[in-house]
Amino acid sequence: MPEVTEHPPIAPPTAEPAGGAWQNALLQLERAAELELLDRDIVTMLAIPRRSVEIAVPIRTDAGPVATYVGWRVQHSSTRGPGKGGLRFHPEASLDETKALAMLMTWKCALVNVPFGGAKGAIRVDPTALSLPERERLTRRYAGELLPLIGPSRDILAPDLNTGEREMGWIMDTYTAVHGHAVGSCVTGKPVIVGGSSARHSATGLGVATCLRAAVKRRPAEAPVRVAIAGYGNVGRTVAELLADDPEFRLVGASDVSGARFGPDGLDVGTLGATIDAGGGVADAPTGAALSLEDLVTADCDVLVPAALGGQIHAGNAEQVQARLIIEAANGPVTREADAILGRRAVEIVPDILANAGGVIASYYEWVQGVQAMPWLGREVSERLVEQLEQTFDAVIEKAAQLDVTLRDAALCIGVRRVVDTHRTRGLYP
Ligand code: NAD
Repeated sequence: MPEVTEHPPIAPPTAEPAGGAWQNALLQLERAAELELLDRDIVTMLAIPRRSVEIAVPIRTDAGPVATYVGWRVQHSSTRGPGKGGLRFHPEASLDETKALAMLMTWKCALVNVPFGGAKGAIRVDPTALSLPERERLTRRYAGELLPLIGPSRDILAPDLNTGEREMGWIMDTYTAVHGHAVGSCVTGKPVIVGGSSARHSATGLGVATCLRAAVKRRPAEAPVRVAIAGYGNVGRTVAELLADDPEFRLVGASDVSGARFGPDGLDVGTLGATIDAGGGVADAPTGAALSLEDLVTADCDVLVPAALGGQIHAGNAEQVQARLIIEAANGPVTREADAILGRRAVEIVPDILANAGGVIASYYEWVQGVQAMPWLGREVSERLVEQLEQTFDAVIEKAAQLDVTLRDAALCIGVRRVVDTHRTRGLYP
């Protein structure tokens, strides 16, 4: 019998049940440590965020009384540069989830080689219950409490669930008011008029389409390659529109919350867009035939792009998935169980950390333009983004071949390894 080495847990226990976001993030780190043969001391260091701050966010409600919400900012790592990560408003947000998302940002930034660490923020609040002035007071108070810890060279915030460019504008203004001069690069994803990037809106979709093209090139198939997009929102629609003029690809399926359309001879991307712009959903578009959104995931296609929520592909439908290639546009669209099933069935998965990294790359460019006070043309952003993602894609393929692992494991290993090597090179203070 080979000897089994028992390791103590890498992180202090939390109240989070097994299978939660933080537990999964720790398992991923353990997996990378095992594959990269990392020293235990550094793994236990990386398993604890550099800084997790719990914040009371009291606001005066429109009705008069004060309501206090709880928020967090987790700066998982600043080894490779300032923290970078979104701020979400959600009634079920938690510290453990925020820690997990911050850690994943560290690996994602390192994977695509942008000089940022990983961070994330959240306020536990039902944003639908807030008026616009309450939302503004909440955002500004949260930013105010964090002022000593954030900024262009410390930690840069961005939109996430239920926050957008409006909130980023308020955070920028709060930061600016205290510093006495305009500081746009304390946030990304801000309105274009105050230094936001016009290319940011389509950047994640451009990255997904770049990975899709690169992955298809590796497994030549008969054209047109049939693509189905499960989640025709900002990212999913951008992917469809970028592929629409290329005879090598055919969009055969699309879905959103309203339902799905499927057509083996191709859906009309213009009709889908026009229907949505007119206030309809995918189900209302007069192209192809109606299908349930659940059935779209298992429909007959070559490439499936899950671009809605986490967990779209799970143990209950993974055996029926017909696509041979999955490009994870959404975060975590394939559950751990489904991942194992698809792996056994030799379905290739381009993981989220790589496939949707176009967003963070464009955010990095936005930050660069801000600190240099030198805007780039939209074309420059797109060209650089595609080049940077293609290089990363090739590096992931090479790593996967070298270690004989999935693209998911390979991408994670590159990210974790870069952080570890940077730390080793810098050494430990004091
Ligand atoms: P979005 O809200 O614009 O689009 C989501 C779409 O999914 C909507 O059309 C919605 O109707 C649809 N949808 C919801 N539930 C569905 C279901 N069960 N089946 C099919 N469709 C369903 O969001 P987005 O900005 O396009 O982001 C999509 C995903 O990509 C999210 O998981 C997000 O976290 C991830 N992501 C986005 C970015 C970005 O820059 N926008 C960056 C990284 C990751």
